[in-house]
Amino acid sequence: MVEVPILTYHSNNVLGNAYHNNDHVALAADLKLIEKLGLQVISLDQLMQWHQGQAVDVNVEHAVVLTCDDGSWFDYHDIEHPHFGLQRSFFNILKDHQQATGSKVHISSFVIVSPEGREELDKTCLAGLGWWKDDWWQKAQASGVMAIENHSWDHNHVTFHRDFSREKSFREVNDAPSCDHQLQQSQEYLNQTLNLKSRYFAYPYGNFSDYLKTQYLPQNAEKIGLKAAFTTEPSHVSKDSDIWAIPRYVCGEHWQKIDQLEGILKSS
Ligand SMILES: [Zn+2]
Repeated sequence: MVEVPILTYHSNNVLGNAYHNNDHVALAADLKLIEKLGLQVISLDQLMQWHQGQAVDVNVEHAVVLTCDDGSWFDYHDIEHPHFGLQRSFFNILKDHQQATGSKVHISSFVIVSPEGREELDKTCLAGLGWWKDDWWQKAQASGVMAIENHSWDHNHVTFHRDFSREKSFREVNDAPSCDHQLQQSQEYLNQTLNLKSRYFAYPYGNFSDYLKTQYLPQNAEKIGLKAAFTTEPSHVSKDSDIWAIPRYVCGEHWQKIDQLEGILKSS
């Protein structure tokens, strides 16, 4: 059976300049490993077309898909980090790799959509230097290297609620009004206000309620323009994967060393 791994990175993960504590360092090294193993980076859209039984002009059998979550400036802009120096953006790491190898690359960036939410997160989770703006979304989308997709209105983030835990978090999005708030509102902002073409949704923290996955999405996805939803369950995607719970491996969580990733990639 053909199975494809989706790898997920967080460009905000900069806690040093080593593979295990910096997702930029990891992504650059992982691209070299993917190249060495003779795997091809395909887009999330190509993978999902294959999942839906459509014809795709790529060899899915030797493929890997890249995604990243949260959508801060570190995805697109090179940033001088106050403690750890200049950080090459995910976008530029991919372009560098494409230039060096001639291999096609692609990453889908799941962004937190609400401008006010990102402004707040910039203060509480980053350095409060305005690194979570959306000035780059159109350019990224137009580049053909990075697609912009939906990571909810505001992540229903811990810092917005007292007595809120990471574990409960998005599981609390479990009725029609809160699902509309997190999913419909963000789809409208991305696709109508900004004219981007978001079709995919990544659950914040990989968490979801039963209602969201088994009722809201099946009933409302077409109306709001969504085609699939993604978790952080560490396994490969097969044609049997649930369209509303497509699994993804997370850098730092499911592998910390490059030989662990090699194990994941070789298990395809
Ligand atoms: Zn997230």
